Amino acid sequence: MAAAAQDVVDVLVIGGGVTGAGVALDAASRGLSVVLAEAHDLAFGTSRWSSKLIHGGLRYLANGDVGIAYESAVERGIVMTRTAPHLTRPLPQLIPLHEGVSSALAMTGLHAGDLLRRIARTPSNLLPRPRRIPAAEALALAPGLKREGLRGGLLSYDGQLIDDARFVVALARTAAGYGARILTRTKAVSVEGDGARLRDTLTGSEFDVRARKVINAAGVWAGQVVPSVRLRPSRGTHIVLSSPGITGTSLTVPIPGSRNRFVLVLPQLDGRIYVGLTDEPVDGEIPDVPQAPESDVDFLLSVASSVLERPLTRADVQGAYAGLRPLLDAEGASADLSRRHAVLTAPNGVITVVGGKFTTYRRMAADAVDATELTTVSARTKDIPLVGATARERLTRIDAPARLIAKYGTEAVQVAKLDPARLHTDLTVAEVIWAFEHEGALDAEDVLHRRSRVGLIPAEANPLVDIVGEYAGTNRRNHSRGS
Ligand SMILES: Cc1cc2nc3c(=O)[nH]c(=O)nc-3n(C[C@H](O)[C@H](O)[C@H](O)COP(=O)(O)OP(=O)(O)OC[C@H]3O[C@@H](n4cnc5c(N)ncnc54)[C@H](O)[C@@H]3O)c2cc1C
Repeated sequence: MAAAAQDVVDVLVIGGGVTGAGVALDAASRGLSVVLAEAHDLAFGTSRWSSKLIHGGLRYLANGDVGIAYESAVERGIVMTRTAPHLTRPLPQLIPLHEGVSSALAMTGLHAGDLLRRIARTPSNLLPRPRRIPAAEALALAPGLKREGLRGGLLSYDGQLIDDARFVVALARTAAGYGARILTRTKAVSVEGDGARLRDTLTGSEFDVRARKVINAAGVWAGQVVPSVRLRPSRGTHIVLSSPGITGTSLTVPIPGSRNRFVLVLPQLDGRIYVGLTDEPVDGEIPDVPQAPESDVDFLLSVASSVLERPLTRADVQGAYAGLRPLLDAEGASADLSRRHAVLTAPNGVITVVGGKFTTYRRMAADAVDATELTTVSARTKDIPLVGATARERLTRIDAPARLIAKYGTEAVQVAKLDPARLHTDLTVAEVIWAFEHEGALDAEDVLHRRSRVGLIPAEANPLVDIVGEYAGTNRRNHSRGS
């Protein structure tokens, strides 16, 4: 810590979500010295509350924003084929065609999305072309669908993250491999163009870090770090359920009365289903952990039930989560304009990178590092595999349980050598040890909420807090991370 206090680093990054971790990797891999300060834990903010999709940009296309749609499609291809095949998978998406649902417009959109895929050179054996399927095939893919009035479906493919929080951890560890210092439980309490005062939130002690450039990647909290940055957050809620007969294929369910808004029923690797998402403007104080209101839960249950044979009830809901989109307050601009990312340099020199999507984090990071003008080296990250990455076909040949390969990629071999005893259907002792020893976890919360997603179901996570905490050992107060 003393070294960080005295030296001048090239780049100080505030925030350890996907954007900040992406900036740390981008800058460090261009040869710059980097310190990243995260107030809580990696992926503590919005980055763990996403829908876990690596979008091809279809939504932007629907709104006529070809540029941003193309950027998404390119970034999706890079993540799925080069940087993180192990942390992503192709997700079949089905729009069920019940009586009264028109297919023509949706099919045109899906074909346009597929054109972008081709332009982005993402192979069709990874993300197959969209097609209309008969009712029998739709039911075979999604047996829980309501049979009455089902005329068929539109089947397409997009990218899905195995786990958004684990992706951020992998990014930060990769950055650490290039020399970035990743400090969690370290809050920026005052920020200037040439450094910041940081507080160790475990001890309360404060210290200064001097930097040639400071990059504010604090997401929805960016305006607290640089007051001139104005955001207009919007809440998105998901509910967590056990499978209502939906396992491998997701459902895209039109919201009644809206032409281009949908509720998504998203199957996960652990057999659960996430149903999301809402889009509600939020005013006032930004909470550390947003809560999902009951009205959002009811809305999601109702829309998803409209296409299911057995309507969902409150009794099906095992958990719920909400995240705040860090949307720029672009007054007078359309909602989608404000969803682009922006790089803003304040009069004191602090660079803020905000907005955008999980999918486009790499571009956001590159733009932010370019704005520092500290190097003439261009971004290299599209060719840097994250820790654990290897080609998709090689993943299938790794000698480890499939569940571990999906979460750890090539590192699954090492995780599999540790204690395989189960603490939960989705957590072994081995994974707890690995989280503490290699993934920067400092306490049970880090393991249950961000190195695994057991925490999404409180009734299952709460009894494990003490047990998992036992393994924290000597890593608890060691801030400097990465292996
Ligand atoms: C409900 C929802 C669903 C979404 N789904 C998708 C999706 O499926 N696909 C997609 O591409 N995008 C999706 N998005 C968008 C995407 O999740 C966000 O754009 C992205 O995660 C933002 O990441 P970030 O790093 O900028 O912010 P964050 O993840 O919020 O990170 C900011 C970090 O800064 C830290 N911080 C704050 N203040 C300080 C301080 N003073 N000092 C130090 N650290 C500080 C916070 O603790 C936090 O960890 C979704 C968003 C929402 C809300």
